[in-house]
Amino acid sequence: MTIHHVVKERNFDSVFQSAKGSASAKLTIKLKVELFALDPSVADSPAGGEHPVHLVNSLSHAKRGLVIDADDDTIMCRSWVTHEWEEFKTKFKKMVEMSWNNQMILLPGGPKKGAGSHVNDYKTMLATERAPAHVECALELDLTSNGAHAEIEVARKVDKRREFRSDMERIVDTDVEFSTTTMKGFRDRKIFQVTAAHEVGHWLRDVDKTHFSHVDWEYAKTLPAAERAHAQYGHTLGKHVAMMGGGNLCTEHEAQPWLSRIGRHVSTLAGWKFMHRIPFRKRFP
Ligand SMILES: [Zn+2]
Repeated sequence: MTIHHVVKERNFDSVFQSAKGSASAKLTIKLKVELFALDPSVADSPAGGEHPVHLVNSLSHAKRGLVIDADDDTIMCRSWVTHEWEEFKTKFKKMVEMSWNNQMILLPGGPKKGAGSHVNDYKTMLATERAPAHVECALELDLTSNGAHAEIEVARKVDKRREFRSDMERIVDTDVEFSTTTMKGFRDRKIFQVTAAHEVGHWLRDVDKTHFSHVDWEYAKTLPAAERAHAQYGHTLGKHVAMMGGGNLCTEHEAQPWLSRIGRHVSTLAGWKFMHRIPFRKRFP
């Protein structure tokens, strides 16, 4: 048997489970995330140090301050109250995992040359007689302060209606809710996204990269600099609805972190391809 069930790496850990009964084989990326309840009074001051935290038991003890967002705008924020913070962390994990899960399937291409017999490995990915060998992709967050792969500050807005532009290192309280946008030219098509799920996606990076890129970055790179920021979120509707664009659909791009890891678990097969769960289940119910 050549399957490796657990892989631990600096970017993220992963676990491979063989098919069992009618349950598909599964590749779960396990990302350890440390969330910081941002102290708004020193959020952007050198005096605050790295990731300044302020948690209070009652609102009367909360501090206020202007926090800089990813567009360099300043937004009035306040300290988190302990019970709000606990609720936020629970919702963060739930909404991010829900956004990424139950969408992506990987299919092996064929035997990898010189890697030995693939027969046993192939069998561990057969869940039913009707479907070919396949692996479901999953994301699991472990909220921890111990050896986190991802460090994210969370600001608490005073006025929840104020827009705050998040990035992978700093988000806000409202980022665990669904937000709705539209794309120019398709105004009647609502596009949903949980911002926190998108920002966590940036942490699903290659070991040697600073972040996992937006869905259309390769295309955006070919444009003049001024047009890149916008285009990388998807210059067509089909791209823009992706999780690493403006939406919540997992496409071949979103599958990259799993595609780049599966060979470490199953070393006798190569040529892995992505398929969305919906067409896969239509073909192999
Ligand atoms: Zn982004």
